[in-house]
Amino acid sequence: MEKDVNTRQVPIYRDAAFELFDAATTVEAFERDREKFLGEGHYIYSRYRNPTVESVAGQLAALEGASWAFLTQSGMGAIEVALSVFQEAAHNAPWLFFSEIYGGTHTYVDEVLVRRRGLEVHRFLPAGDHYDLEALRSLLASLHPGVLFFETVSNPLLMVADGREVIRLAREAGCRVVVDNTFATPWLWRPLADGADIVVHSATKYLSGHGNLLAGVVLGKDEALGRAVNHYRKLTGHMLSPDEAARLGDQLRTFPLRMQRHCHNAASVARLFHDHPAVERVFFPGLPSHPTYREAHALFGERGYGGMVSFDMAGRDAGEKRSRRDRFIEAVREEVVLMPTLGNTETTLLPIEAVWGDRYPEPGMIRMSVGIEETDTLLSTLRRALDLTL
Ligand code: PLP
Repeated sequence: MEKDVNTRQVPIYRDAAFELFDAATTVEAFERDREKFLGEGHYIYSRYRNPTVESVAGQLAALEGASWAFLTQSGMGAIEVALSVFQEAAHNAPWLFFSEIYGGTHTYVDEVLVRRRGLEVHRFLPAGDHYDLEALRSLLASLHPGVLFFETVSNPLLMVADGREVIRLAREAGCRVVVDNTFATPWLWRPLADGADIVVHSATKYLSGHGNLLAGVVLGKDEALGRAVNHYRKLTGHMLSPDEAARLGDQLRTFPLRMQRHCHNAASVARLFHDHPAVERVFFPGLPSHPTYREAHALFGERGYGGMVSFDMAGRDAGEKRSRRDRFIEAVREEVVLMPTLGNTETTLLPIEAVWGDRYPEPGMIRMSVGIEETDTLLSTLRRALDLTL
């Protein structure tokens, strides 16, 4: 096999296992120091280490400012690994989760952490439409939690927590911090630089960006924690396949470009909705009318406010709002896909009632993941559809 090909692509090593040396060296190396042997560039078995997967993990670590990164087969895999490593260290302390987190994570917390593993879990609720950090400080002081978990941008109301301050308060209270940075992405904020212990992503979303693969990533800086994450991940079989990792790596090349356009388009769409009579209310953290605009501006600076926009159709009553919502979705269905995901290059939307039921009482609400289409074309599609509902 040709070893030194002058390629600029990440080679895909599909080996499930790698060829070892002669028996004596292998036995000696294994026995002498197994971890060291595995850590010195010797590939043995792809669930332990794979060169393709490691190369892409390295790209992601650079993006998040991490010292280590491990790829998992989905975002949920990343969350399960990140939370499980703290279980031994923080088993006797209660754990604190922001209430506004992805539904799958909620269910995981209830069914796995609480019901199966017996952890004591508390929720930190927002004060209406924003997070009250004084209330968080008091809760941390009274509860002494071992772990705090939050998402940078909440779903579907897109509330931004002042992440820097949340981490500072948690650390002051001696609590480890895990941040799900899927919605914000490292383009907008890098929580490890501000003291988070672990960052997780559903790389299914913006990091891969094309809606054609499932992946997750766990990232951090602390070396001991990295070893613990890697050990747990190997034991429990969390690993991305080399083919999927290579595709993620390819798609990451356009990540900064895509994020710039997502942010630009979302800001333009939010303004269109804000000014249109068919829309009653827009939830976009980049609009000064959003309850967490100040926090978003402080955290994200000039980079933008992400690619998500939620909005509520205008109407005299629930029936009219629902009917306007449905007519809007029907009018854009050729160009804007109704789909339960986000972060794709194409604009997708979801009626909020379909996923969250009556949790958000306005039935005209829609969550839109704004894509990277040509801005004016996208705006005219949406404007035409809104006009049709009047
Ligand atoms: N975290 C967030 C914020 C999500 O929105 C999702 C999925 O929608 C996940 C985690 C889970 O990721 P995956 O679907 O890749 O397992």
